[in-house]
Amino acid sequence: MTRLARWAVPLAAVALVMAYAYGRRPEVEPFTETRFLMDTLVTVTLWGAPEPDARAAADRAFAALAAVDQEMARVEGTPLWELNRAGGGRVSEALASVLADALAWARRTGGAFDPTVAPLLDLWDIRRGPHPPPSPLAVEAALSQVGWDRIRLDAWSGRTRVDLGGIAKGWAIDRAAEALRTAGVTDFIVNAGGDLYVAGRRGNRPWRVGIQHPRDQDRFLRVVAPMEGALVTSGDYERFYEWEGRRFHHILDPRTGRPARGCQSVTVWAPTAVDADALSTAVFVLGPEEGLRLLEAQPGVEGLVVAADGTVRETPGFARVAPEVRR
Ligand code: ADP
Ligand code: MG
Repeated sequence: MTRLARWAVPLAAVALVMAYAYGRRPEVEPFTETRFLMDTLVTVTLWGAPEPDARAAADRAFAALAAVDQEMARVEGTPLWELNRAGGGRVSEALASVLADALAWARRTGGAFDPTVAPLLDLWDIRRGPHPPPSPLAVEAALSQVGWDRIRLDAWSGRTRVDLGGIAKGWAIDRAAEALRTAGVTDFIVNAGGDLYVAGRRGNRPWRVGIQHPRDQDRFLRVVAPMEGALVTSGDYERFYEWEGRRFHHILDPRTGRPARGCQSVTVWAPTAVDADALSTAVFVLGPEEGLRLLEAQPGVEGLVVAADGTVRETPGFARVAPEVRR
């Protein structure tokens, strides 16, 4: 036997055993990293990129998210804060773009989505925890400062304040997804507290994500394998307090000046997270009937609503864009 031939048989055997072991091995894990950003836990999960590249790409995604937060949170010192304080002024391209989107959705939703709810948000101050709700007179006074038609992109007219809490997170998620694509990553999830953008696959199978049950934090309402795009949920369970048996939460109906009462949660699938975010807030305000009608009128958008009584309803195409998977 030649030297080579003598080794050929054992080598082939080793290769066979290795192939077998590889096939049986628990699957390769995706790269994942979680940080606290935008007032929530944000997880970036990537598939397929080798470790140093994955880490660099995730860093860029987090940087994109942080940049949006530092500009558009209603926190002292941010450009949005300055804009509100001054009652107008020059803004960056990014802020102008989110403001334009917010105003477009305000118009399309008949004001159910309204970025000028800031005076009402300040009055209700949900974050403060349990306290008596404001008086009807105080609600009326704050309501008189609300109205998206007071804001123009070229000139800010009338006194109001802008809050982008219903849309900026979606926009930030889109920017993070863009950063990952630019870094050459095609398979990923950007998940900001349950609002997410999904792209590609997890190896040889689709990504799976859970939709939070609005009344049971330990349970998913559904586990789905979404099509490439955004899946965003607005719920009355995220930020709320209870007072004398009633729940007061952070999504306000600009028509009444009070927390919207029609839904427990709304999940929207859309090609972009910015649209899904604005729509989930708007549908929550409009309630199940009007909300589902609004969703059905948007091409390429689907959604699922848990009504105030706990019944679940969805647009006819929701199961197509977010098919349920066995757990
Ligand atoms: P999150 O997922 O961060 O809880 P949502 O998309 O559900 O956010 O939107 C809720 C946030 O939107 C509130 O915290 C507030 O900042 C803002 N908001 C509340 N009511 C409205 C409304 N009617 N239109 C637009 N923004 C709103
Ligand atoms: Mg929203």
